[in-house]
Amino acid sequence: MPTKTPFRSRPIAAVLAAVAVLVIPACGSGERRMPSDPSPHAAPHWDYEAEGPDQWADLDRDFLTCKSGHQQSPVDLPGHARLEPHEHTTVDYHSTPTVTLRNTGHTVQANLPAGNGNRIVVDGVPFELTQFHFHLPSEHTVDGAGTTMEAHFVHKSAAGEVAVLGVLLQASPGPSVFTPILSVAPRAMDAETVVPGPIDLRSMLPGATDQFRYQGSLTTPPCSEGVSWTVLGSPVAVAPADADRYRTLFAHSNRPTQPLYGRVVTLAGG
Ligand SMILES: [Zn+2]
Repeated sequence: MPTKTPFRSRPIAAVLAAVAVLVIPACGSGERRMPSDPSPHAAPHWDYEAEGPDQWADLDRDFLTCKSGHQQSPVDLPGHARLEPHEHTTVDYHSTPTVTLRNTGHTVQANLPAGNGNRIVVDGVPFELTQFHFHLPSEHTVDGAGTTMEAHFVHKSAAGEVAVLGVLLQASPGPSVFTPILSVAPRAMDAETVVPGPIDLRSMLPGATDQFRYQGSLTTPPCSEGVSWTVLGSPVAVAPADADRYRTLFAHSNRPTQPLYGRVVTLAGG
């Protein structure tokens, strides 16, 4: 019996897992195995290889938006984007007492404890930081040029809306604020590592405050739309050794850029 039948019916446990993911939407964690669930069907069934981005919509009915959506992410950001200084996303980061690193099978994800107090404010609406994770190479590009990696800081509003802050990472010799995270990322799928803090999240952002903004989606299945994106215009350094180590875990984990379909990307200053 084939194991990759499109639109296969899924056992209740898998459906419940999918519901759990919808409750905690997270770019980079479209589906994750429940630790107590022995069902092999709950394992991720999408990837960046044979079941890659061009196939996602065919893998599961819940993933159709990956193909049919017209507000998909990532996108190529135009360097000449329209200036809208008043639409600046306020980044209110401090430190977090700890993070729990998890190898999701698709990325390394740093989960923050509830009530960590880090947030962004988008058009007056506060979004609390829940996790951050990585892609290699970067998913967003600027005038067609990408960077070594990209970090996504995922936030949720009280109403359950999602806002993501994208930070482009460029390999550069010397110290990197991401070394304490990337150098201890667990190699085994579903393995977790606790990184003690305090961890200063502000140090993970560039000094320059120019930022691209647009309306998009999760960049992983189910590619849900309605995500407010803020991508910072200046990159942050990542140590080449850390990028190399991440590459041994996930050789590449970037969805290609998607058509804008008339969406406007704006550029806000500090
Ligand atoms: Zn992501």
